[in-house]
Amino acid sequence: MPYPYKKIEQADIDYIRAATAADRVWVGEEIANEYYRDEMPEYGVFPPELYVEVINKEEVSAVMKYAWDNNIPVVCRGAGTGLAGGATCKYGGIMMSVMRMNRIFPVDHKNQTITAEPGAYLVDVQAAAAAEGLFYPPDPGEKTASIGGNVITNAGGMKAVRYGLTRDFVRCIEAVLPDGSIMNFSSNVVKNTTGYSVKDLIIGSEGTLCVLTQVTLKLLPAPTCTCTLVMPFNSLEECADMVPKVLELPFVPTAIEFLERELIDIVERNLNKMFPVKEGNAVLIVMYDASSQQELDSAVEAAAEAALANGALDCFLADTPERAGTVWAVRGGILEGMKADSVAQEECDVVVPRSRIAEYVKAAKKIALSHGIRVEPCGHCGDGNIHTEMLRGPEMSDEEWKSATHASLTELYALSKELGGQLSGEHGIGNGRLEFLEEFVGPRMIQLYKAIKLAFDEKLILNPGKVVEFNKPAAE
Ligand SMILES: Cc1cc2nc3c(=O)[nH]c(=O)nc-3n(C[C@H](O)[C@H](O)[C@H](O)COP(=O)(O)OP(=O)(O)OC[C@H]3O[C@@H](n4cnc5c(N)ncnc54)[C@H](O)[C@@H]3O)c2cc1C
Repeated sequence: MPYPYKKIEQADIDYIRAATAADRVWVGEEIANEYYRDEMPEYGVFPPELYVEVINKEEVSAVMKYAWDNNIPVVCRGAGTGLAGGATCKYGGIMMSVMRMNRIFPVDHKNQTITAEPGAYLVDVQAAAAAEGLFYPPDPGEKTASIGGNVITNAGGMKAVRYGLTRDFVRCIEAVLPDGSIMNFSSNVVKNTTGYSVKDLIIGSEGTLCVLTQVTLKLLPAPTCTCTLVMPFNSLEECADMVPKVLELPFVPTAIEFLERELIDIVERNLNKMFPVKEGNAVLIVMYDASSQQELDSAVEAAAEAALANGALDCFLADTPERAGTVWAVRGGILEGMKADSVAQEECDVVVPRSRIAEYVKAAKKIALSHGIRVEPCGHCGDGNIHTEMLRGPEMSDEEWKSATHASLTELYALSKELGGQLSGEHGIGNGRLEFLEEFVGPRMIQLYKAIKLAFDEKLILNPGKVVEFNKPAAE
């Protein structure tokens, strides 16, 4: 094993500057603090030794080859919106930002695809497709994530219930391997059984196997009409019980989310975004897309009827973009609202079978509360991906917070496993969930993960210590 890694010296800085550009390289204290962490500082704050912004695959390749030859760790950085402590230099070395590689190429109408460089923002890819009358459905909550980050973390989001995950839209990938070689994984074809599906292994690999430099994504015809329903209930448990009833209807919902009143209050109070429905201690938000008004009306009518028959206090129709906007703005403001309302946050991103959602939600609240933690479950309940958000109050000491969140997470993960669920539905393992992974998947699976990592990166230089951890580096 290559630990300990080589520390960056002047000769390394000179080489990286020559291979890229002097004004795109920062060293030591010149590097902005925001690059020490992602959106979850709880999962590690690590200063890079060198930060470089690359502009093309040749530069990516040159940096990787140099790092490979010199045993220097490299972490690829997208927009830094990750929630797993993934885009951080755990063992120092080089942070390589791909955000200047942000071209979006013209839509390929014959293949119904769009090709983009990794640093393009998700929102810009969605807009480029929409401008051509097409639709890129994956819709993770954070729209300013990079498209490369979305692919490499296999981002999910609200619309996964109907359309699936980012993975389901990836036709082909161009990437640079840790040794600097540039490779293509699949091509712009609809199906492919040519060898192992390595493309699918790369999707969701969290920057540990290769650096994505270009991606081609499948598009769909845009739905012509859409409607959001808000169903207020007396409790979150009732909302959870309603989820399978919505799914049993003969119309596939685009999104199903739930929110407790307390969480809505947090967003209203801190972000001044007003939720249009005031009734109920919890609400279920259901969205439908359709290609005709008649199809949409049938779906909305069936869902509203089912809600009222199952204890909903009302059923509010947000059938204009403005009304729907007020609903989704509050849903989208949760993380920001919670940050403003607490000293620190911890989140549990488990996914459970849809048939066990209600059981999970009921038990999860009890678990976190039993450890004295303020807890707000919310999330993509239509696909069983429940974000159990834990909030630290000002009265808790560092030690109390650490031990209470650890104890809660240990029990929440055990509960998810018992219900047939998984450790993470969409945010990934990164550094933050690493310690729980083996318990979840077992030692034989960890062996497989390690073998895969070594097949791509036998020198362990690309994003080391994330998803899989080999032996720890020797102390300095
Ligand atoms: C408010 C909020 C809401 C969110 N909602 C959702 C949601 O609904 N669903 C969801 O799935 N996620 C969500 N996220 C998490 C986050 O936005 C996604 O994980 C996103 O895909 C990360 O993209 P990024 O560009 O920010 O990547 P980064 O955070 O920069 O990196 C994430 C990981 O990918 C690697 N990486 C990034 N780019 C590349 C590349 N080109 N090649 C190789 N490796 C790379 C990094 O090394 C790191 O390990 C949310 C985050 C926030 C802050």
